[in-house]
Amino acid sequence: MAKKLCAACGREFAPRPQIRNQSFCSAPECQRERHRRWQKDKRLHDAKYRKIDAEYNRAWTAANLGYWAQYREDHPDYADRNRQVQRQRNAKIRKLKSGIAPPGNPEFILPSGRYQLIRINAEGVANGNAWIVEITAIACSPP
Ligand SMILES: [Zn+2]
Repeated sequence: MAKKLCAACGREFAPRPQIRNQSFCSAPECQRERHRRWQKDKRLHDAKYRKIDAEYNRAWTAANLGYWAQYREDHPDYADRNRQVQRQRNAKIRKLKSGIAPPGNPEFILPSGRYQLIRINAEGVANGNAWIVEITAIACSPP
């Protein structure tokens, strides 16, 4: 059996013949990584799994009240990083809500108003009828 490189640690391993398309070695941390990636993909693409997973997590949190508060207290770096990432997420949402920013120029905000919409074909040529559309920015506060 030809040797392969592990998708997690990058080390060479001999795939087991019982496992089709094995791409992770059997080291426990690589198996955890394999499961983590599988779960991430499943949460992203499987609505039923996402719902069941969320219910399980809610039940677990209810049965283990205070676990996360204690975890944050024991791991201040983790809590600080989470706060920082959440602040960035909030800023991004505030910016999105304040208007429509075209890709490539996130600083330009399209103000509310009436616009003429013209269909452009694959060659970039405008053709057909034009529509008058009203675009309303759903924000209340500037970024
Ligand atoms: Zn590995």
